[in-house]
Formats: sequence, C-alpha cells, structure tokens
Amino acid sequence: MKKKKRLIWQLYPSYLLIILISLGAVSGYASSALRHFFLNRTAADLKTQSQLLEKQIARRLFSQDIASVDPVCKEIGASVLTRITVMLSNGRVVGDSEKNPGNMENHGDRPEVIRAAAGQVGTAIRYSRTLEQRMMYVALPLKINDSVKGVLRTSIPLMSVDEELKSVQIRIAFGGCLIAFLASGICLYVSRRISHPIEEMKQVAEHFAKGELEHRLAAPNTKEMAGLADAMNQMAVQLRERIETVISQRNEYEAVLSSMVEGVIAIDMEERILSINHAAANILKNSSHEMKGRTIQEVVRNRELHAFVEETLSSGQTAERDIVLRQNGERILNIRSAPLCNANEKRIGTLVVLDDVTHLRHLEEVRRDFVANVSHEIRTPLTAIKGFVETLQNGAVDNPEEAERFLAIIEKHVNRLAAIIEELLLLSKIEREDEIRQIQLEEGSVEEVIRASVQACQAKAEEKNIRIDISCEDTFSAKADLPLLEQAVVNLLDNAIKYSRENSVVRVETALSDSEIIIKVQDHGMGISKQHLPRLFERFYRVDKARSCKLGGTGLGLAIVKHITQAHDGRVTVESALGKGSTFAIHLPRG
Ligand code: ADP
Repeated sequence: MKKKKRLIWQLYPSYLLIILISLGAVSGYASSALRHFFLNRTAADLKTQSQLLEKQIARRLFSQDIASVDPVCKEIGASVLTRITVMLSNGRVVGDSEKNPGNMENHGDRPEVIRAAAGQVGTAIRYSRTLEQRMMYVALPLKINDSVKGVLRTSIPLMSVDEELKSVQIRIAFGGCLIAFLASGICLYVSRRISHPIEEMKQVAEHFAKGELEHRLAAPNTKEMAGLADAMNQMAVQLRERIETVISQRNEYEAVLSSMVEGVIAIDMEERILSINHAAANILKNSSHEMKGRTIQEVVRNRELHAFVEETLSSGQTAERDIVLRQNGERILNIRSAPLCNANEKRIGTLVVLDDVTHLRHLEEVRRDFVANVSHEIRTPLTAIKGFVETLQNGAVDNPEEAERFLAIIEKHVNRLAAIIEELLLLSKIEREDEIRQIQLEEGSVEEVIRASVQACQAKAEEKNIRIDISCEDTFSAKADLPLLEQAVVNLLDNAIKYSRENSVVRVETALSDSEIIIKVQDHGMGISKQHLPRLFERFYRVDKARSCKLGGTGLGLAIVKHITQAHDGRVTVESALGKGSTFAIHLPRG
C-alpha cells in the first residue's frame, strides 16, 4: 500500500508552492514592467534629444549644405553619450557622430528609418553590427512642407539600461527570496496549526480503537473541529455505555449457561461449535476452550449425535430424542434442538441441549422391573391359593385329611403374601422417612442391638442346630434408629441361618475403623458366586429363586438392609466365596 503522508507535509509544500509561484509571477511581471518603463523612458529621452537637434540639422540639410552635417553630428555627439546619424530620405548616410558616413552602408532598410521616411517617429532595438552591441534607435522625419527630406536618428547603447535593469531585478529577486523565506516559515506555522488538532484527534481515536474509551478530546478553537471533537467524545461515551451493556448481558448469559445442569451447544450451519457451556463439556468429557471453533464431528465420536445435528440443521425444526453415548462408560443423553437465529431473524445454526438422563432412565427401568417383579411375586402365591380354594370347593373340603393339608398350604402362601406386603411396606416406610429425614436417631449400645437380633433368630437357628457366636465390645455405642438397625441385623442373621448347613456356626462381631462402626455377620454356608454380588441388594433379586422360595424368602431382605444403612448414611458390603460362606457387613458412620 502506498505510504500515506502526514497532513502537515501535504499542506506545507502546497502552501509553499502557491506562494513561490505567486512570488515568481509577481517578480516576473514587475521586472518586465520595469523593463518597459526603462525602455520607454530611454526612447522618450532619445526623442527629446532628436527634437532638440532637429532644427539645427534640418537647416543645414535643407540649405543643401550637406557636407556640414557630419561635422555638426560629430561635434554634438562628442559631448553626449548619444550617437547621432543623419540620412537622406533614400537612406544614404550624410552625417554620423561616430563613423565616417562615406564608409557607412545605406540605412534605408532599417525599420526605424522606413517609419521616419513615412513621416512618423520610428523606434527600434537591435544589435548594431557597426558598434557591436545592442542599441535603441529613435528616428525623426525631417520635413519641408510635409515632404520628408531626411531622417535624424539618435541611438544609445542599451548596456547601461540593461545594467540598471539587472540591478533592479537582483534586488527584486533578493526581496522575493526574503519574502519566500518568511512565507515558508508562516506556511509551516499555519500548516501546523491546522494539522495539530487533527493529529490530536487521530491519537485519541487510536485510543478509542484500542478500547480505551475514558480518553477525551480537548475542544479546539475552530468551530468545525470543536464540533468534530464533541461528536467524537459523545461517540466514546455512547460506545462505552453500549460495551458495558453488551459485557453485562454477556456475563449474565454466561452465568446462566454455566449454572445450567443441562449442556448447551450452539452450532453454526457448517456444524462448527460457536459456544458450549461447562455442563456440555463435562458430559462430552472435553474442555470447552478446546471444543470452540471445531466441528461437532471432530470433538464427539457419536453417529447418532452427528445425524441429529445434521437433521436439525437441514430441517430448521425443533427435535428431541434419546441417544446412547459410549465414552468412559455408557450414558443415555436426552438431546433437544431449536433453531439458532441472529438479530435479523436469519437462521445461523442450531442450539442443542444435552441432558444426562442415565440415572432417570435407570430409575424408570428399576420402577418398571419393580412393578413387574411385585406382580409376579404376588401372582405366584395367589394362583396357588386360588387353585387350592377351588379344589376344596370341588369336594376336597369333605375329606378332612386333604382339607387340612390344603388349608396348611393355603396358610403358607397367605403368610408368604403377608411377608411380601409387610416387607414392601417396611421398605417404602424407610424410603419415605429417609427422604424427609425422619429417621429417629438415638444413642444406644450396639451389643444390645446384636443380642436382641440373635434372640429373635435363636429359634430358627436351633431348628438347624446352628450356633450363633457373638464377639462384641460392650462399650460400643452407635447413634441409630435402634429398632431399624435390629431389623437389618436380623435380616442378615436370618439369611446366614437360611443359607447355612445344619450344625454350622454363624458369627456376629463388631469392629471399629477410623470413621465407622462395623457389624459383621459371617456364615460358613453355601456362599455366593462373584457374578451375583453387584445385584444382590436389588429388590427381589435372588441367586437361586426356587431355593429362596422354599426357604420362605421374599427377595427383599437385603434390599431392606441396604435402605436401612443408607438411611443412616452408612453402607453394606459383602464378601463371599462359593461353598465357603459369606460375610455381610453393616458400616455405620461414627458419631
Ligand atoms: P431372600 O428373602 O431370598 O433371602 P434376600 O434379599 O435376603 O432375599 O437375599 C437375596 C438373595 O441373596 C437370596 O435369595 C440368596 O440367594 C442370596 N443370599 C443372601 N444371603 C446369603 C447368604 N448368607 N449366603 C448365601 N446366599 C445368600
């Protein structure tokens, strides 16, 4: 790009040029006028001298005393600087103050002589070959009765006129230079005065461009400049206000976006990410800075999401669907989109909202499974009861032995139904109380809870001749809902007895860690294989359903234990080896 000149270096040379041209023109005109003046004055002098001589010469010429003309010319010419030449009307020279007329050529062709021969005053300037210098000639006609009989010519070398003129011209040039020098200084001053406020404005405008809007322009003296400075200052104020508004709006918008639990991604028509909030970056396991400006294909490897973005960009409609994201485990995302428009309502992309609904969908699945499981668990005993009631109605009631057997079976299933309903009610009670934090905590002896639990299970243990060993420090106390804690230990003991061989030993012991009180129930029964352990505490989950039912299990015992410990901010763990036995442990936080 062509380098731009500063304003002062545009103004100053222009002014200077104008002044120099004007000065040159004035000087030229003055010197030419002076030259004219000098030449006119010289011509007038010569004419006057000629007129003074006219009579004297004419007398001699007209009295045919032509020979005396030349000596008179020489006599007068010796006393003045002027050369005097007298000619007849045909141009023959008859007298000359400086030369011998006999040696002089005919002067009839000289312009001033031609004019004088025609009866007028002739004037000419030219180079004289005779005297070898520039001369001014003035020729007067010498007349008798209006008839020209001769010509009187006076002439003077122009050298003295030229010299005088030259000295005046030198003075004019010197004066011109002086004026030019002064004018150049004045030009520089004026140029600076004009460009200075503009330079200042430029500097302040540069500050504005850098965003430093607190600068202000001082008002210059010129009206137009003062108006411009005022307009620029007002512009800075307004710009500042607008920038502040934009920044505060952006901050609000970013605060809203970053505080959202849902991930939000703005994508342009080329599928590039315009902006992304922290939640979206977390969901996609990436940093929001790295993702900005890149395409959605580059940052997320998920065909379903790519297809969704493509579809919504081409349709411009809102859409919603669930997708599975396999990135550090499997997660279900609910994605929704809405068209993204600019200030002119023109569609510039799409806004995608991501919601991690893995937990929600899992809960929905658990709820569905639960309803199916409950229905199934209830239907089995109900079907049995219905079948035996019908058998009784169909005549079996008349056979007392059979009737008693059937009634005993019906009672067993009714008890099972009652147990299921009892445990479901207990579970929902614990859940509800846990939700609204209504669990009544009281300080109590852990040993007492364990002894009460063992006592509750003693009868069942004796049936299988199982010994229950207790190893518990009597000083241990826990802050808990004691009846619920007893229920949890009873459930674990009940399982330990149920799934142990006859004549074996079940051990209940307590231990302390830095932060927990641990109640362990250990048996040497059948044990549980590893694959079942993660799901063991789910409702109705049973390793061997037939065996559990036969033993009167509902599949809810361990779920109840889990919920009771969770309600105490604790946890339950299990270690088991198939064929060797299991150890269940309740971990409660220490008060
Ligand atoms: P259930 O009423 O069937 O005993 P639970 O919820 O108490 O239901 O237990 C779930 C399943 O865990 C049981 O069906 C059983 O298969 C297994 N289980 C629980 N405790 C033990 C144990 N001590 N030894 C072996 N298996 C056990």
